[in-house]
Amino acid sequence: MNGSDSESMRATYAHLTGGVTPEDRAHRNGRSGRVVWLTGLSGAGKTTIAIATERRLFDLGRPVYRLDGDILRAGLCGDLGFSADDRTENIRRAGEVAALFANAGILCLAAFISPFRVDRERLRQQIGPGRFVEVHVATPIEVCRRRDPKGLYRRAERGEIPDFTGISSPYEPPLAPELVLRADRDPVDVCVAELVGYLEKTYSA
Ligand code: ADP
Repeated sequence: MNGSDSESMRATYAHLTGGVTPEDRAHRNGRSGRVVWLTGLSGAGKTTIAIATERRLFDLGRPVYRLDGDILRAGLCGDLGFSADDRTENIRRAGEVAALFANAGILCLAAFISPFRVDRERLRQQIGPGRFVEVHVATPIEVCRRRDPKGLYRRAERGEIPDFTGISSPYEPPLAPELVLRADRDPVDVCVAELVGYLEKTYSA
């Protein structure tokens, strides 16, 4: 299906569901749904920051939901591996799911390595530039390697994990993200405060 086919499908479905648009929901809720996309190397801190941000926004009474890459890979994306094509498809599906949450009026936090710039740019177009917040969790690889919370770098360096981002597969940092978090320099609570501050400042109907 090409882009314009999928656009016309979306328009068709909007009609079939009675024409309640994301704008209608935003008007009622006083806020629009958005996708906050955290990208960065394995071990950068994406999941840690997303979990704490979800908690903080939830406690503030915001409609928020966090998509977890590992859970998606265990279910919806269980047929995919880590080749470049499979990574692209993994991100495409995650983006579709995130867009559904945003359409439902929810702030969707999505933490995915998502190493390829072109895939993230496609998400921006797919979700809508105004509703896509790209956050680069910019922890340098030496720090991620030292942290190695899941022992993945050690295994990748032994050649046990093919196509491992940063070791045997590239990571393309965003060129113009909405926000850069320095999770190597700033503690978790500072990163979360920065992200929540940005979202609260810019999060409206
Ligand atoms: P990712 O989801 O990017 O693979 P994780 O959040 O799973 O990364 O792991 C990051 C690790 O780094 C965790 O063990 C976390 O406790 C640690 N860490 C140390 N400082 C920070 C920080 N400022 N922000 C996020 N994580 C941090």
